[in-house]
Amino acid sequence: MALFGGIEAGGTKFVCAVGTAPDDIRAEIRFPTTTPEETIGRAIAFFQEQQAIYGTVQAVGIGSFGPVDPHPDSPTYGYITTTPKPGWANTPFAGWIKEALGVPVAFDTDVNVAALGEGMWGAAQGLDTFLYLTVGTGIGGGAMVNGRLLHGLLHPEMGHILLPRDPQKDPYNGRCPYHGDCLEGLASGPAIAERWQKPGTELPPEHPAWELEAHYLATALVNFICTLSPQRIILGGGVMSAPGLLPRIRQKTTAYLNQYIQSPAITKHTDTYITAPALGNKSGVLGAIALAKQHTQ
Ligand code: ZN
Repeated sequence: MALFGGIEAGGTKFVCAVGTAPDDIRAEIRFPTTTPEETIGRAIAFFQEQQAIYGTVQAVGIGSFGPVDPHPDSPTYGYITTTPKPGWANTPFAGWIKEALGVPVAFDTDVNVAALGEGMWGAAQGLDTFLYLTVGTGIGGGAMVNGRLLHGLLHPEMGHILLPRDPQKDPYNGRCPYHGDCLEGLASGPAIAERWQKPGTELPPEHPAWELEAHYLATALVNFICTLSPQRIILGGGVMSAPGLLPRIRQKTTAYLNQYIQSPAITKHTDTYITAPALGNKSGVLGAIALAKQHTQ
């Protein structure tokens, strides 16, 4: 059976795998993100080793940190474009992989690809409109809308929406280099650490940090629910592993919506409506394999 390659390219680590589905992963590797040459080089070397064992992969799917160019008809398709990450701006990521391996390459944002993985095999199976939001080093959202991954003009940047902030209750100005106190500036892992002078992993569940974190994330979810009308919201990323955070977000989201959206999915079944990824920390790399599969169909 033909195999596919998947790359989950994060700003801090890369995950590469070869296989066809969650129960058929033949090989997987994780390594830190350094320079583009070294990191993409390691991914290429991994696939070359695997191809020597299993034969040529049919296609490679990439879910990348960004901003990226996901439009196939654009001259910079498959590029990481204007990223502030040092050394990575204007990197022809998909092109390098395609050239080295000589196979078709499909390319999208890390969060769109994670959404695709959850739709194919995880918490959003059978749905056509849903959201995958990651809350970690950064905040980003991928959306499936009417069965297609949403790109639009470039691609959504859900981490950079602006939220009301009460400086009396939260004097922290945020850390987004572009907007200060946008969602990512206020609620990413590094924002939590800077505001409280301690990483989230060292803040106990009863610490006020979590009430505030749930407040910002629930406010963002209300905006996304009112804009996209998702049938489900999947919350992934390192920050979401804080004990008790997910139930707090559910409770606040329902409270802030205040019965306005009259759907039992939200009013009665919030536990399944706002949920953790069913694929755990593999939504991205499995989604990349799903993207490669779709690409060849
Ligand atoms: Zn921002």
